[in-house]
Parts: sequence; structure tokens; C-alpha cells
Amino acid sequence: MGDEKSTMPNSLGDMPTEEFKKYGYELIDWIAEYFTDIEKLPVLPKVKPGDIKTKLPKNPPELPEGFDKIISDVDNIIVPGVTHWNHPNFMAYFNSTSSGPGILAELLSAAFNTNGMLWKTSPSTTELERVTVDWMRQMLALPESFWGIIYDTASISSMHGIAAAREQVGEYSFRQMGLSGGGKIPKLRLYASEHAHSSIEKGAILLGIGIDGVRKIPVDNEFKMIPEKLSDAIIEDRKSGWRPFCVVATVGTTSTTSIDPVEEIADICEKEKLWLHVDAAHSGVTAMISEMKYIFNGVERADSLVVNPHKWMFVPVDLSLFYIRKPDVLKKAFSLVPEYLKTAEDNSVENLMDYGIQLGRRFRALKLWFVIRYFGVNGITERLREHIRIGQLFAGWIDEHQNFERMAPAPFSTVCFRAHPASTNSESMIVQGTPYGEWLNEQLLQKINETGKLFLSHTKINGKFVLRLSVSGIRTEERHVKDAWNLIQRTLKELL
Ligand code: PLP
Repeated sequence: MGDEKSTMPNSLGDMPTEEFKKYGYELIDWIAEYFTDIEKLPVLPKVKPGDIKTKLPKNPPELPEGFDKIISDVDNIIVPGVTHWNHPNFMAYFNSTSSGPGILAELLSAAFNTNGMLWKTSPSTTELERVTVDWMRQMLALPESFWGIIYDTASISSMHGIAAAREQVGEYSFRQMGLSGGGKIPKLRLYASEHAHSSIEKGAILLGIGIDGVRKIPVDNEFKMIPEKLSDAIIEDRKSGWRPFCVVATVGTTSTTSIDPVEEIADICEKEKLWLHVDAAHSGVTAMISEMKYIFNGVERADSLVVNPHKWMFVPVDLSLFYIRKPDVLKKAFSLVPEYLKTAEDNSVENLMDYGIQLGRRFRALKLWFVIRYFGVNGITERLREHIRIGQLFAGWIDEHQNFERMAPAPFSTVCFRAHPASTNSESMIVQGTPYGEWLNEQLLQKINETGKLFLSHTKINGKFVLRLSVSGIRTEERHVKDAWNLIQRTLKELL
């Protein structure tokens, strides 16, 4: 015991206030400089698997360590292994960047450390969420009947949408009887396009619908779900004993940002009495731009919807908005109140734990509130509009260049393209066991990313390897995309 005592810190309790202030100010300075100098850093770290881990001690420290030492390890060990999502040249995937007001709100949220499971466990946490979610509803011009809630990610939001859809299946109570043989379980079928995000299938896995319960509907040559194929599939499935219950339409698919014809899909859902969930995780925020409002045509008829401010609205990860027209269905699916969580206000307030699987909830609304107030709706709209303008510029450069071809329409700021040198006629020639066209584009992507100056990602479209450039970072300007374009052309030249 005596030994144990000698390893205790000098005093118990939290970091002393003076020390907190000193390092707090230093850390804010550190972050400010990080953003000032971010362009000097490679966007993709030059590390191999395990490089970071081997520099870190295997065992936790027995004795307290100085904050200076911790920060110096951030500089020397962590930063070299960070992929800089905030870098203006991060144009891979769907880039999500944080912003000053978002970061400061996260700091405050950690300081409050509220748990918004019940109204009582922090009235401001619940009520600010109610208000900001409704602000976003207005910004996206959604009907007043859309009730919203904040979850962490779009995957979780869509899972809740599918859970609500399953709860609506009248002939069987999944909540009560589960999937363990409590009765004759309907063979549920969910429909989504071939281009829907993998999170839809994951939701189906989790909810016992299974991958076989998800029927992929073919897309047209613009990668949009073909409504007639959806209708046919539903009719065919009903005949063969399936129980159709939900359709997922995507506004801004992950590979190409195609927009499913929501209006026509909504007609089918109405006729067939199916739940319509819309996944607008990435591109949905642009519905706040006047000339982009069309992307939400028909969405007002959806039963549920997901839009992620953490993807393209400068809110730090994570914050996903889930809207539903019948919140009572969600509550019916998930509400379970043990004695120790009952409060005197239960009949007069919304306890957000009732609307989902999680009990504890972070104070995420704070960062949404800070971001909306700091930039204003106009400021956010103008930034999104600029990203679309830059994305369209890039699409135009691809279209005009004889050595490149565009592989999909670009309704937002994501461009799918491929090198297709006019001087070679050898797409099908085999290089290192791979058709030349595939080899060339894979090499092109690899060489670009190896420079550390730009980060692009890829997808496959109609079986072909395709590069993807996406503009949604708050620090990305036209000059960055111009530099990216020059680098892409230079790298192709070198490869040829
Ligand atoms: N839906 C779409 C259309 C997406 O593009 C993505 C991710 O890029 C997701 C869902 C999943 O998002 P999250 O990481 O928030 O779960």
C-alpha cells in the first residue's frame, strides 16, 4: 500500500485552473497555427501501417505526465500520421471539414459534458436541439410536419428510418416478438438503387432484414433509380411471398451524386403503402440554395430523411439530422422507460432517449447552433454555391480535354472522370495482368496521392475504375482545384 501511495499525483481532482488556462490558450494557438500552415503539410501522411503504433508506449503511464510532453507527442507522433481532412487539397470521398465556430462549440460541449437523454438531465441540451433542428428544416424548406432529431452519423439515421418503417408493418410486432420465432415473421423486403450507400444494407443487417431482404433496383444511364423497375420488383416480390415495407431513395449518391427521381418513387410508395426514406446525407444541404431547391422535389412526401451537416456544412464530425413525419412511430419502436429514468416532467416534455437506440446523447446541437449563427444562412449558402461553381469548372476542364473523359453527370461539386488518352487505342491491352485503361487510371490515382499534394479517391462505374474529385471543404478555393487539375495532367503526361 505504501508503494501505491508514492505513485499518486500530488493532489486529487482535476487539472488546476491556472494550468488549464495556460494550456488551453496554448492549444488554441496551436490549432490556429495548424490552420494557417495547413497547406505546408502533406494531405495524406507518408506512413506505413504500424508506424504510429510503434512510436507509442505499449503500457499506460503509471505517473502523471506533463502537458508539454503530451503536446510534443502530438506534434512528433500524431500529426505525421494524420490525414488532413481540413486540408484544402483533400478532395477525396465526401470531404468534411471543421470550422472555427464548430471547433469552439465542441470545446464548450466537452466542458458542459451534458447527457441529453432526458429533458431534465439538461433542458438546454434538449431544447437547443429542438430549435436548431427546426432551423435546419426551415433552411432546407421542408414541411412543418417534419420532426427532427440529431444522431451521430447517416448510417445510424438511416437505421432508425428503416426501424420506423419496420414498426409500421401492422401484421407483426418486431418490437415485441423479435426475430426469435415468436410468430410467423413476414419476409420483409426493402428497395434501394444499385447506387445506394452501404449503410442501408448495414441497417438491414442490424434490423434482421438481412442482405437478402434488400433488393437493388437498377439505375438508368445517369445512375438514377428506374421507377418502373421498382414497381415491377414490388409486384414480383408480393407474388413470391415477400412483404415489401420500405423504399430508400438517394439524393446525391456516394459514387456519382446522382439524384433518384423522388417524386415518382413517392407515387409508387403511396400506391403500394410503403415507407419512403430519403438518404440525402451529403448533398441534401444544398437544398438551401435557391437554384438547387429542385433536388428536394418530392422529398416533402418522404416518411423520413437524413441530411448530414457534418459532411458539407462545416460542422465537425459527428452530426447527422434525421427527420420523420411520424415521430410517434419511432417512439413506439424505441421508447422503454425504466423506473430510474422516470421524471415528473415526462408528460410535458420530449425526452430524446425515447426516439432511438441510444440512451446518452452528446450536446451536438451546440456546434450546429454556433455554425449557423456565425456564418448565417447566407454565409453557408454562399460557400456551398461557390463549391458547386468550382466543381462545375473542373467538370468543364475534364470535358474539354482530349485525354480525359467524364464518367457521370455532375449535379453538385463531385466529378467522376478517367484518363482516356486520345493518342492510344489500347484500352483493352493487358498491363501487369490488368486491362491498360484500368492500369493507367489506378496508377494515375496512386501517383497523384503519393505526391502528398492532393488526395483523390476512386469508384467503379459500369465496371470501370474511375477517379473522383469532390469539392466541399471550407478552405478549398478555385486556385486549389486549378492546382489539382495541373497536377492531374502532369502526372498523366509522366505516366504516358
Ligand atoms: N449516405 C450517403 C449517400 C453517403 O455518401 C454516406 C457516406 O459518405 C453515408 C450515407 C454514410 O455516412 P455516415 O458516415 O455519416 O454514416
